[in-house]
Amino acid sequence: MLQKPKGTYDAYGEKGRQILYLENLLHSLMEKYHYEYVRTPIFESSELFHRGVGETTDIVSKETYDFIDRGDRNMTLRPEGTAGVVRSYIENKMYGNPSQPVKTWYMGPMYRYERPQSGRFREFYQFGVEVFGTDNPMMDAEVISIPVNFYRLLGLKGIKVNINTLGDTESRTAYREALLEHFHPHLDELCEDCKTRYEKNPLRILDCKVDHELECMKTAPRILDYLNETSKTHFEEVKKYLDLLEIPYQVNPNVVRGLDYYTHTVFEVEASIEGFGSQNVLCAGGRYNHLVENIGGPSTPGVGFALGMERLLSALECEHITVGEDILNLYIIPVDESQISNAFALTQELRMNGFSVDMDYMGRNVKGNFKQADRFNASFVILLGEEEVKTNILTIKDNHTQEQYQVKKDELIAFLDAHIVEEHDE
Ligand code: ATP
Ligand code: MG
Repeated sequence: MLQKPKGTYDAYGEKGRQILYLENLLHSLMEKYHYEYVRTPIFESSELFHRGVGETTDIVSKETYDFIDRGDRNMTLRPEGTAGVVRSYIENKMYGNPSQPVKTWYMGPMYRYERPQSGRFREFYQFGVEVFGTDNPMMDAEVISIPVNFYRLLGLKGIKVNINTLGDTESRTAYREALLEHFHPHLDELCEDCKTRYEKNPLRILDCKVDHELECMKTAPRILDYLNETSKTHFEEVKKYLDLLEIPYQVNPNVVRGLDYYTHTVFEVEASIEGFGSQNVLCAGGRYNHLVENIGGPSTPGVGFALGMERLLSALECEHITVGEDILNLYIIPVDESQISNAFALTQELRMNGFSVDMDYMGRNVKGNFKQADRFNASFVILLGEEEVKTNILTIKDNHTQEQYQVKKDELIAFLDAHIVEEHDE
């Protein structure tokens, strides 16, 4: 039997509904924040990710799906969303848009050749935002507020926001020197990757999943002691705005993030739920004031984050939060064969009036159809017989209370509008 590729999954049935529910909720949340949807290609030139994500990151050095297309171009399936959105921002000259900042959101599949395990797939879905054109710390706070408010809307309780700053270039350079000095006598203890990081990007040693228990990691200098005034002020302002928005957070100097492009604010939201797996970072992001320039655009500050949909689904499951119920307003039952066409036509008519409606396609008898209506948890059942069609008076049964109503055909929509309270027209 042919099987799906390792590290991928099929979503259908309940899981399909859950995903759609979350995506719709994100869509409407983004309308409220007044962010613009942006969709970029799933594959891009490999060079984009080398420049955008960084050569020393795990993502680019070990995890990309690369291929050479039939025109001999080096292509990569996108491992994350930011680089593509930045490329699009530059290519489409959005920096010239008079309504700055440019606030965007995206949602879609990402590809990383990782070892599949719980919370870690090779094809997974991210929702993310990218805001370009402002250095205002208020925007850092707003961006952090988006996933937090989204998780709140869902009723997720066990979340923890960790924030940190990497400072501006000056602060980072000073910190880098301090790290080089600190780790020099411990080079032998570090893993092979960290030895490379020591040469190329020592900050990322702090992000190592292999070495994080080492004593020299715990005694490493802290970025907070190396911030210049500008960086300190920026961080203080971000915290002030988070307080104003009543977003609880912890300052955690170990949050440095795996990507090379961050400056100033970085953050992670983690799940702290009993029984949640070790892949507990639900979302991550930060400010990247040099990325647009690195990819070839004009110097433009940016800030954004990405959240993983699969880990969110696991978190919801862990907290027993159900989303994406199967909603069926009406199930139409023909009393005998002569009414099947009428039932079919009525089904279509009611759908076009905004109700979710279904009927039988398998030739079930009335009893079998009532069972099917129960399986679907339909709110109402309409029984369609010769009599009903002749008199234009329909029999409608509330499938939960068993109450029956006789309703004139031309008053049907008004009746249903009054009785069906679900948000069928949202
Ligand atoms: P991790 O440290 O867990 O590998 P990361 O630093 O690689 O995460 P980001 O690139 O910042 O993660 O991606 C943001 C979010 O996307 C993560 O917090 C997580 O929810 C999700 N994510 C990342 N990689 C995967 C994956 N392989 N499978 C499922 N979700 C993922
Ligand atoms: Mg990773």
